[in-house]
Amino acid sequence: MLVELKNTTKKLCVIGDPVLHSKSPLIHNAMIKALGLDYLYLCQPVKAGETARWLEAAKAADYAGFNATMPHKEALLPLMDELDEDARLCRSVNTVCIREGKAYGYNTDGQGFLRALLDHGVDPAGRRVVVLGAGGAAKAVALKLSQRGAASVTVCNRTAEKAAALCTQDPAGRLEPAGFDRAVLRALCARGDLLVNCTSLGMAGTAGQFEDLSFLEALPAGTPVCDLIYHPAETALLVRARALGHPAVNGLGMLLHQAVLALERFTGRTIDAPAMTALLTPLLTG
Ligand code: NAP
Repeated sequence: MLVELKNTTKKLCVIGDPVLHSKSPLIHNAMIKALGLDYLYLCQPVKAGETARWLEAAKAADYAGFNATMPHKEALLPLMDELDEDARLCRSVNTVCIREGKAYGYNTDGQGFLRALLDHGVDPAGRRVVVLGAGGAAKAVALKLSQRGAASVTVCNRTAEKAAALCTQDPAGRLEPAGFDRAVLRALCARGDLLVNCTSLGMAGTAGQFEDLSFLEALPAGTPVCDLIYHPAETALLVRARALGHPAVNGLGMLLHQAVLALERFTGRTIDAPAMTALLTPLLTG
């Protein structure tokens, strides 16, 4: 992707380790080009333990900001001069803006997920939601679902302590931890209104797959099933859910919305999310 460079061009990037697989440079540079913005978005490997050093380097090199992925999201938290509400709630930062030497930390994952869900006509308010997983993405999703007014959010995880710890972070007290075995998932699905997979099971390039998807059969007819994974576009979970007649939503919308929200923070501009979705979807699915 060619972007025009000037001496005034402002620098952005994504940091992480590993990070070279990241779609963020493609997404952001496409938006920058389409919107005629004077920014450039790079891919910057930064190892664990180097977060603070990177932040100082970014300030010295006059970066306008950066996104962060594993393993920096939690490490950035104490390094920020200010945090937005979602970053404070999740205790995790995925977007940093640098203005006049100060670092402002945001977390756009939960809001990105919610916007993607609403795009599909699914409002979690009042629903009994079953969340699979208790990692970083599950945390952002579960806390946002509670904030939006879900009737209940049950966080099912293989490692019980992680689900329990996540649930203590909800100020509204709507999150409940649960196990991950077949009987538990079946019982929860039977009274669920929305199912969201936030585990990495089914992601391309990883060994893990759901051993048993029969819990989907317990879901009431028409219950939406959402998977945060976007590669492959349809995981085995979504294929089976769709075959059973459930609306199936993958993670592409979340990926795009969290990027639009981040670029809005970096530039201070309101960005037309539907237009960006139309621009980016063919680039990411073609
Ligand atoms: P993470 O922090 O590493 O969490 C991984 C989760 O998957 C944990 O709950 C883990 O359970 C569970 N898990 C992994 N292998 C499992 C297995 N064999 N059996 C049962 N559970 C298993 O990862 P993350 O950052 O939350 O990301 C999770 C997924 O969401 C990834 O596929 C990622 O690509 C996707 N994601 C998508 C977006 C988007 O924009 N669409 C954004 C963020 C993440 P334990 O706690 O028991 O290990």
